[in-house]
Amino acid sequence: MSVLMETILEHNRAFVANSESTQFPTSKYPLKKLAVVACMDTRLVELLPAAMGLRNGDIKLIKNAGGSIPSAFDSIMRSLLVAVYLLGVEEIAVVGHYDCGVQGLKSEGFIEKMLQRGVQREEIDKLDFLASWLSGFEDDAESVQASVRMILHHPLMPKDIRVSGFLIDPHTGRLDEVAV
Ligand code: ZN
Repeated sequence: MSVLMETILEHNRAFVANSESTQFPTSKYPLKKLAVVACMDTRLVELLPAAMGLRNGDIKLIKNAGGSIPSAFDSIMRSLLVAVYLLGVEEIAVVGHYDCGVQGLKSEGFIEKMLQRGVQREEIDKLDFLASWLSGFEDDAESVQASVRMILHHPLMPKDIRVSGFLIDPHTGRLDEVAV
C-alpha cells in the first residue's frame, strides 16, 4: 500500500474511534431535492458546496472531468436518472467553471501522452471513438448550455424537472448563471 493510503487509513481509524461521523447526520435522500453536475477540479472540492451554501445531505453531487454531459447515455445521465426516479431529486444544476482543464483539451496531445506511458499504438487505433471521447469542450458556457439542453430534452427525463446552468469562479466562488 502507498504511504498516502496508509496515512489516510491511519486518519480513518482515529476518525472512527472519535465517532466524528456524528457531525454529518443525514440520509441518502437529498434534503434540497437538488442534483448538481460539476467538475472534479480540486479547487472545487470544498469551495463549490461552501459557495452554494450546501451541506452534507443537501444534494446529489455528480462529478466528472469538465462537469459536462458528453453523451445522453453516459454515467452522468444515468446518475441523474437514479437521482430523479429513486432519490427524490426535483431540480438539477449544471455547474461548470472558469479555467477548466478540459476546455480546449485536444485528443492528439492526450494520445501522445498515452504512447509515452507505454500504451501500444495498435490499442489506440482499435478505438475509433477515441478522438472525440478524449477531446474537451471549446467554450465553457457553451458546454454548460449543451449539458442543460441534454437533460431538458432527454427522452427518459420527466418534463417537470427544473434545470439550470452556471459557471463558478474557482477562486472567488462567484456563480454566474448561464442562459440557455
Ligand atoms: Zn474543470
